[in-house]
Amino acid sequence: MSLLQLLFCNMRLITKILIFAMLLFATFCFGQEQQSSHTDTKIDKADLKHYVLTLTSDSLEGRATGSIGQQKAAAFIAGKFKAIGLQPYYKGSFYQPFCLKQTYWGEVYLKSAAQRFDNYEDIIFAGYSAQNTEADKQLVFGGWGTDEDLKQIDVRDKIVFLFCKSLRSYDRLSISMGKLGAYGIILANPTDETDFTTRKERDRQTFLRKRISEMKDEINFFKLFRIDSVHLANSMLISNDRIQELMRVSKNDLNKASQQKKLSQIPPVPVKVKFERLCDTLKTANICGFIPGNTDKSIIISAHYDHLGKKDDIYYPGADDNASGTAALMELAEEFAGCKNLRYNLVFLATSAEENGLLGAKAFVADAGFDSSKVVCNLNIDMIARADNEHSPSQKYLYCIGTGNSTDFKTIMTMAAEGVQTCSFDFSLDTDDYNTGMFTRADQYVFHKKKIPSIFFFSGLHADYHKPTDTEDKINYNVYLSRVQLIGRVIKLIESGY
Ligand SMILES: [Zn+2]
Repeated sequence: MSLLQLLFCNMRLITKILIFAMLLFATFCFGQEQQSSHTDTKIDKADLKHYVLTLTSDSLEGRATGSIGQQKAAAFIAGKFKAIGLQPYYKGSFYQPFCLKQTYWGEVYLKSAAQRFDNYEDIIFAGYSAQNTEADKQLVFGGWGTDEDLKQIDVRDKIVFLFCKSLRSYDRLSISMGKLGAYGIILANPTDETDFTTRKERDRQTFLRKRISEMKDEINFFKLFRIDSVHLANSMLISNDRIQELMRVSKNDLNKASQQKKLSQIPPVPVKVKFERLCDTLKTANICGFIPGNTDKSIIISAHYDHLGKKDDIYYPGADDNASGTAALMELAEEFAGCKNLRYNLVFLATSAEENGLLGAKAFVADAGFDSSKVVCNLNIDMIARADNEHSPSQKYLYCIGTGNSTDFKTIMTMAAEGVQTCSFDFSLDTDDYNTGMFTRADQYVFHKKKIPSIFFFSGLHADYHKPTDTEDKINYNVYLSRVQLIGRVIKLIESGY
């Protein structure tokens, strides 16, 4: 019997099978449709917990940009993107490597013939410009810095020793003395013995922190201190009990000379100064994968995976900031992976160097292949696993900020939250001005500046924000899960054209 005959004989049977198969297919599709609009989701608590635990583990050491710990986090995310079937976004790679500049203070001191005064030990260097090779300067006494005092001495290219009533006045004095051509100032506050020590303890960490910036950025202290570009005198502060060693004249005698208007009688002291500013290149990367859609338009879902690293051997796990957003990103990628016939490409972007000024997001939009006209919107997830003071203990909320960026957003968010009992959107931080306040503080702002409608999903600031106590055990996974699911519904709605 030929195949054709066999086929003919069994035609009735085949027809029956075909109808059955079609019915089965229809039931399947209908079921899918019904389920997808309700609870059919692969987003689950166990995965989220596993991701957050991995990202906050000791071996990742707080995921500081450029660190080995961050490289491990990047490999974990890229590995996950690959395993769930995302396509690499960068010509066969999930990595977008880029370089940043790390600047920090090296040797900083003031030296007289007999003595060396070290920074944050004997003196405080309060800025402003680098002096990478040792410079010889004359130190002159300028009394209390009044016009009358300054008339008695020549301050040009000198370091001027000044009394003040608050060491805080270095800011103002470095401008006024800079205008007079002084190279530097050194301030002492004879009215308050604690002023120096308090300041020393308080500012040490901030001063000694390495600053990460874009390669093209010049070291710009004017920008750092929000001061217009004028010549500023380098400022140093000194404690009262070191005045005599430095000036070779006692505090009281200096005061007397000031009262008697005999400043020029105080002999200048030759000193050497060095304010060494060092610079390294840091390598880091954004991690990006996508699920292809039927058009060249994309929805970019983003979350930063970097955090603060460690200080004094204490590491900052950043469980909420932003292991929570990164874990959500991976779980959402898995939710949509394998989806066919998507209207838009779903791009999943884990950014680096967010904590250093949204630098990963800036590198992403600066890439030659990036075209903002092809981006439907950016949905950024940053800190979504805790509660702030406004909401604790009721945590069934998620802040949604940026709905004014597109006329459709409010409708979409309302539709997404419809019928959801476990979480609703809180729009109370969603003011209309997206160029100030909370909206500017996370990666969505970079997309917003590229005229891309952008949303910030966030659960608010809390006492553990940017502290070593932002730990995994403080996460309420039921609340966190419901927030991720809600974001999943938003993506589904935008994708489907709602
Ligand atoms: Zn963050």
